[in-house]
Amino acid sequence: MRIVLLGPPGAGKGTQAQRIVDKFSIPHLSTGDMLRAAVHAGTDIGRKAKEIMAEGKLVSDHLVVAAVIERIAQPDSKRGFVLDGFPRTIGQAVAFDELLHRDAVDLDRVVELMADEDILLDRIETRAQEAKARGHTARADDNHEALKVRLDAYNEQTAPLVEYYRAKGVLRSIDGLQAVDAVTHDVFHAIEGLMP
Ligand code: AMP
Repeated sequence: MRIVLLGPPGAGKGTQAQRIVDKFSIPHLSTGDMLRAAVHAGTDIGRKAKEIMAEGKLVSDHLVVAAVIERIAQPDSKRGFVLDGFPRTIGQAVAFDELLHRDAVDLDRVVELMADEDILLDRIETRAQEAKARGHTARADDNHEALKVRLDAYNEQTAPLVEYYRAKGVLRSIDGLQAVDAVTHDVFHAIEGLMP
């Protein structure tokens, strides 16, 4: 069961990925989480990614693809995985397809969470305020400026993946602005029948 969740920042990919993980016990691979961990640990990749991430821009394809290749090779990914935040460019998608084909496998489903930009801006700003109210520090890129850059990056570099995956016949698009449980219902429907 190899699934990609596609959608703009704040569309709820992380929340829905967690629900898939809980139900199907496959790992949640979030390149954003991997990169934040690398920044925190001060690794080579982390040092290269830190500034770019804080500005809301995309980290270069080769860094991200390398991180995914390493993660997919772990034994827990053999039964499948749910990818969140990757691929984000056509270059990443092509590199990823090649990687999967080497193991004679393919992506089973790409689920697009569709969401209106203005609502996303509000949502992310609320997420940052709530984190602060709980005494947590907000993500470095959860501010108005970086968010605009992240949405632009999505529209310019990631949105073309919708057509890329539609042409492969694996895309399912759902309304990401419904109540969280209703989105989960549609996500499960979109991946129905994939698990043996
Ligand atoms: P996310 O947690 O998915 O919103 O990702 C946070 C940030 O990490 C993004 O704004 C990018 O700077 C970087 N990032 C995460 N995934 C990717 C990716 N697949 N390609 C390039 N940059 C990424």
